[in-house]
Amino acid sequence: MKLLMHTCCAPCSVYCIDSLRNEGIEPTVYWYNPNIHPYIEYKTRRDTLKEYTKSIDVNAIFEEDYGLDNFCKNVINNLDTRCQDYCYPIRLEQTAKYAKENGYTAITTTLLVSPYQKHDIIKDLGEKIADKYNLEFLYRDFRIGFREGQAKARELGLYMQKYCGCIFSEESRYFNHNQGMPRLPEGFEFLPVKNAINIKKERDNKEQYMDLLLEADPSKEMINKYLSDGELFVLTYNDEPVCVAVVTKINNDNVELKNIVTKEKYRCKGYAKKMIKYLADNYKTRFSKMIVGTTENNIPFYVKQGFDKYEKTVKNFFVDNYDKEIFDGNMQCIDLHYYSKELN
Ligand code: SF4
Repeated sequence: MKLLMHTCCAPCSVYCIDSLRNEGIEPTVYWYNPNIHPYIEYKTRRDTLKEYTKSIDVNAIFEEDYGLDNFCKNVINNLDTRCQDYCYPIRLEQTAKYAKENGYTAITTTLLVSPYQKHDIIKDLGEKIADKYNLEFLYRDFRIGFREGQAKARELGLYMQKYCGCIFSEESRYFNHNQGMPRLPEGFEFLPVKNAINIKKERDNKEQYMDLLLEADPSKEMINKYLSDGELFVLTYNDEPVCVAVVTKINNDNVELKNIVTKEKYRCKGYAKKMIKYLADNYKTRFSKMIVGTTENNIPFYVKQGFDKYEKTVKNFFVDNYDKEIFDGNMQCIDLHYYSKELN
């Protein structure tokens, strides 16, 4: 299945992308939302989605259309039914059109995550429109993960909008307080969201994370050299340790990120990025530079996280310091490349 997912904003996309990826489906995110006003709001939501999709490495397409005039002209005669008469159909229709023209086989929408939207109408419209273009409509009741997705979005620091999108929904934010609590389909209930993402320094028993650390650095002997003096940080998601990092002090100005690793099933979801951001914030008051030594394969990742200054290369590091040959994917690790990030 080649899936194009109409995406209304970054926070709503969080759970949808996570749960699809858990199913083994890789969506392409498709931004087309001429219903978001005013322009600064449109731009903020769009740019947040741009950054978020980049951070989790998901393919994203941005169809620019800030459509205040057209939108208002088309809904003004019947504001009560504007969602189902105009706003949902134009967005789903454009998604299907793009999908058809570009070789996708299925469409879906993040509108299915919001308990505030007219879920059954979106499902019906999605099926009809997909059918018209000879596509599959991938229906999922994402609402079950609404709270979880929002909590994670908040933890990631994503911009959280205060209203649905159009100027009429912005108005009802102030003048219509009778919309009630979000509703879930029968049989579902909101589960209490635990403190979704947390990062803390582990002071005792750092060895309990040895198995995870070994996934990034396969020598226990090497890890032991920096673990006892290093500071170990643990990122938990719903209380489960997901990503750990070890930082050591080099001198009064510099620290070194010696090891950072994310559990396999949580990779490519932005946890390591979140950890690095946390570490940079944590050390910037006391140190001016953070250094990382990396294999060739991982240089682009670190450069993206701000380690953009090349420092040095230690030739044959992995050959000289490890008993066995070490591979990163298909590539044998030979040299260790050092890059640094200014903390201030
Ligand atoms: S309230 Fe939301 S879904 Fe309804 S018309 Fe406005 S932007 Fe579209």
